Amino acid sequence: MKAGCSYFGNRIPRHVATDMKRLAREGFNLICHTYSENDMLFYHSTMKEIVRISKEEGMEVYAGPWGVGKVFGGEAFSNFVCCNLDCTQTLSDGKPAGMACPMNPRFRTFMTEWIESALGIGAETLFWDEPHFSISTWLGGRKGQWGCRCDICQGHFRERYGHEMPFEKTDEIVDYLEWGIRDFITFLVAETKKRGGRNALCLLPHGKGVEGEVKAWDAFAAIPGMDVFCTDPYFELQKLTIDHVDDFSRLVVDCARPRGLETQIWVQGFRVAAGREHLQVEAIQRAYDAGVRNIAIWGVDACDHMAWIRPDNPQLLWEMLVAKLQELKRREG
Ligand SMILES: [Zn+2]
Repeated sequence: MKAGCSYFGNRIPRHVATDMKRLAREGFNLICHTYSENDMLFYHSTMKEIVRISKEEGMEVYAGPWGVGKVFGGEAFSNFVCCNLDCTQTLSDGKPAGMACPMNPRFRTFMTEWIESALGIGAETLFWDEPHFSISTWLGGRKGQWGCRCDICQGHFRERYGHEMPFEKTDEIVDYLEWGIRDFITFLVAETKKRGGRNALCLLPHGKGVEGEVKAWDAFAAIPGMDVFCTDPYFELQKLTIDHVDDFSRLVVDCARPRGLETQIWVQGFRVAAGREHLQVEAIQRAYDAGVRNIAIWGVDACDHMAWIRPDNPQLLWEMLVAKLQELKRREG
């Protein structure tokens, strides 16, 4: 059984070493290092050292494109967007948004540079985290607007549907956007495989009609070169019931199993209200019951160090989650 967590907010190797030793003692054997554009530009060899230290403690290492191009999840800004204002998404109001368009060839070229850099720090698996077109409620999105309507997207749309791209978010638009993300991921997965890396894809577990919803999960699992199929059903964040964990854990397992893919579920170790910590412990059990044997917590120490997402009781939450993972690991032997 794999027990993982994400790690971010610290680029000082000697402190990382202390944390990795402790995480290994706590039973963790997988670490997902965020690898933002800031890390890529300013911390490349530091990250190499951090990955080396992590492996020394027995960790399997993932690297995630944290906020890269603002096309992935993560609290990081994008230098690519700042420097390539002609590669951004265009929203339905006709104005650019502060996020790259995943269909833009220059952004894709940049992503191959990110892939080489992330594999270059020694990460074994690249963690494609929550890839998405503009979501109106997320940073960089605009209320009531969808994207992308850039010239490239309009061209793809015309080619696929035989008419001009509308301004309203029709069913065809929803279909196009999902195809676009799948095309983007197919590209990234192939480029990673070509360079000897493994691929983990974490799709947004958004329900029916919710922005960023994925309809054809199976088609994503079928992307050639996929290794790990994941999702992050943060029901507390989305103000849903814990059944959300069952639904999406089963979905991931159902898509992954016939293809021999590993499955992974992320548990919400952030922004949990006091008195609700036990529900996240239960979430671990539900993922386990669905057949998932790679369970990870976002993020280290229940994000005690990150004000934006710190839970009411980070220490208590972390201890409870760690104890639950230890219990399951013992059960697995
Ligand atoms: Zn576009």
